[in-house]
Amino acid sequence: MGTIHSIDPATGTELATFQEDPDEAVENKLAAAAAALPQLGAAGWGGRAAWMRSAADILETEVEAVALMITKEMGKPIAQSKAEVLKSAHTMRFYADNAEQFLTGRTLDNPGAVNASTAGTRFDPLGVILAVMPWNYPIWQVVRFAAPALMAGNAGVLKHASNVPQSAIYLGELFTRAGFPKGAFATLLIGSARVADVIRDPRVAAVTLTGSEGAGRSIAATAGDVLKKAVLELGGSDPFIVMPSADINAAVDTAVKSRTANNGQACINAKRFIVHQDIYDEFTVKFANKMSSLIVGDPTDPATEVGPLATESGRREVTELVEDARLKGADIITGTSPGTHESGWFYTPTVVTGLTQEMRLWAEEAFGPVASVYRAADLDEALSIANGLEFGLGSAFWSTNDDEIDRAIREIEAGAVFINGMTISYAELPFGGIKRSGYGRELSMEGIREFCNLKTVWVA
Ligand code: NAP
Repeated sequence: MGTIHSIDPATGTELATFQEDPDEAVENKLAAAAAALPQLGAAGWGGRAAWMRSAADILETEVEAVALMITKEMGKPIAQSKAEVLKSAHTMRFYADNAEQFLTGRTLDNPGAVNASTAGTRFDPLGVILAVMPWNYPIWQVVRFAAPALMAGNAGVLKHASNVPQSAIYLGELFTRAGFPKGAFATLLIGSARVADVIRDPRVAAVTLTGSEGAGRSIAATAGDVLKKAVLELGGSDPFIVMPSADINAAVDTAVKSRTANNGQACINAKRFIVHQDIYDEFTVKFANKMSSLIVGDPTDPATEVGPLATESGRREVTELVEDARLKGADIITGTSPGTHESGWFYTPTVVTGLTQEMRLWAEEAFGPVASVYRAADLDEALSIANGLEFGLGSAFWSTNDDEIDRAIREIEAGAVFINGMTISYAELPFGGIKRSGYGRELSMEGIREFCNLKTVWVA
């Protein structure tokens, strides 16, 4: 079996090394997950909610240590790591409070219409669910799966990204510490090559992935082969449209935040800024000035606004995308990689204009603090640029004109549209994409129902 490394991206130094789980350990964890299902069911809504609230308590009590672990392991500024942990705890309480209501089936008012004395629906758990998760929100991405899945009565096994093993191990112990039955939620320390075998295991009922398109294709193919349900949360290149009636300064501030949150490595970071020609010059100058004034540095320093990229390969990919655009004639109006940093995988916030369709940056997701700015002659052209890609995750639209807002809400092809704001995930709202950004939904009522059997019940 191979080894899994935790490396500090701000310095490139190794923090810890772990052995991958041997096959026997994976077998034991799958068996324990399956064995935990009856106990999860017997606990009922109240029992599971009590365990879930206890898990939230633990996260809140340990917020400082968990936040530092996240920051050291993947480079997120420390304030954002703390916010991630607290949001995860909030989401646990949200599902502890609401799961029963979300999963209460309905009863037909007129069962005679279907020749029954009573008829309706109920939601049953599917069983053991495999979650394949990314490193960019190492606690939040997992909790937004685990909280609804466990509250529904499912068990979970986690295959986390290989560069966040400390977060993976912490999560693998958290739910048991909170009182959930042993094995109800476990971390498999395995590489991606071993994921297909887990999906094929008869004890695994379904799989959810948050990650890249490549991983999505591979996991969906295996799940399809064995006819198991899959939910895919994949990449995006979200548009952020700014029209002349918008509050430009507020739009600029939000644009910078939306492009650089999580060091520019969120699926729902705004990545393409599509600006009406009447305000293009003003917006672009202000936006570039603000991007260039961000504090880039040690992510454990509370003053830091942008830390390093999480991996060396991630920085290489971003560098290649920007270099390809530059060589094909784009203007890099601010930003040079890696700035003044001699070690670590830093990438300076960068703004690119003058993009053409020949450039990879036009169509591909830049997973780092790189903003592409487009000039649009009118709303039609802005929407056409926004919808011109095969992604459809989030979107933002800035205007104070009601007719424009109506059109944007109806016509933007994405899983979410945020008006005069930025795309954010909330426990209270469904989250997911269309087109190559994936399928299925997480969070809210819709998310908890994804891994349930909607059973029709008919009584003579
Ligand atoms: P990634 O390489 O796809 O990794 C994500 C997870 O999938 C990791 O656990 C990885 O394991 C595993 N994996 C990779 N290839 C696999 C394969 N062929 N079969 C099975 N498992 C596989 O993604 P990333 O580059 O780390 O993450 C960034 C991507 O995730 C971006 O595209 C981003 O937009 C997307 N994302 C989407 C959302 C959303 O909600 N839509 C949220 C966050 C991120 P290893 O680490 O062991 O390779």
